[in-house]
Amino acid sequence: MKNILLIATGGTIASRKTQDGLAPSLTPQELLARVPAAREFCRVDTVQAMNLDSTNITPDHWLRLAGIIEENYPRYDGFVLCHGTDTMAYTAAALSYLVRGTRKPIVLTGSQKPIDQEDTDARTNLLDSLRFASAAESGVCIVFEGHVIAGTRAHKTRSKSYNAFTSINFPDLANIRDGRVVRYIPCAQPEEPRFSHTLSRRVMLLKLIPGMPAGVLASMQDRCDGLIIESYGVGGIPDLYLDELDQLVSAGKTVVMSTQVAQEGSDLSVYQVGHRLKERYGLLESYDMTLESTVTKLMWALGQSAVPETIRRLFMTPINYDLLF
Ligand code: ASP
Repeated sequence: MKNILLIATGGTIASRKTQDGLAPSLTPQELLARVPAAREFCRVDTVQAMNLDSTNITPDHWLRLAGIIEENYPRYDGFVLCHGTDTMAYTAAALSYLVRGTRKPIVLTGSQKPIDQEDTDARTNLLDSLRFASAAESGVCIVFEGHVIAGTRAHKTRSKSYNAFTSINFPDLANIRDGRVVRYIPCAQPEEPRFSHTLSRRVMLLKLIPGMPAGVLASMQDRCDGLIIESYGVGGIPDLYLDELDQLVSAGKTVVMSTQVAQEGSDLSVYQVGHRLKERYGLLESYDMTLESTVTKLMWALGQSAVPETIRRLFMTPINYDLLF
């Protein structure tokens, strides 16, 4: 029998109705009691890391979760984290960078309906997650509605339906059907795990909209060391902002170009409005990475080094299937 550590963080899965709307309240033991069938294939210990709506999750919580996993790593065969769906993709991506090269499954799950609601998806998702964590080698991943998605590839694409998550620019690692794991991508984590303990909080995101006045990029300068510009299509910057961009780059900020288009990613080399950014400013680009991975990878890379070349190398190194380009 596999030994699994169930780490509860809150979210809808652990929520009850209150006068002011749903709020997390169930303990991990209470969650576990709702899936008695898990006893047939695993032994589970529990820990309550926090009990929050995931709207309130921050990088400090990601570090705390990685710390719990590191502390308990030798004692367990796998980890299941119950988490709110709203920022689950960010936590899954952050854990992919904080716990690299793990072959032990670190599975995040949650639900669209509270576990005590009659039509809940929570019991299936939790049972599937415990099953996957007991059955397969894997890195950090999300198990939701039968989909097993790499931790760096998930994006919440539906706010209400049970199939809330989509794997972006990469296939599902596996599916779980009627309790059977069907694996599509073999586990490619070759190493002993490497844990990181620092993340930069000085990362900001600027989403471009047509007609935004000059000065928006300059206004970011004091607030960040890393700026992600979510641009259009394969990527480019309106002429209007080029001087400010110059200032940001000269001030030593790491600027990453990404795209608002969900599928297929960026390629700055295609158009003049993008090409010049590589030629002249040497900007990084997110290519096919999700926004969640781009944000957390930049936080992680800036947390490891202040040397531009090292930041660039860390950012461009593929981790947990995040980058194919
Ligand atoms: N607001 C909730 C949360 O992210 C939504 C959910 O769990 O589905 O914690």
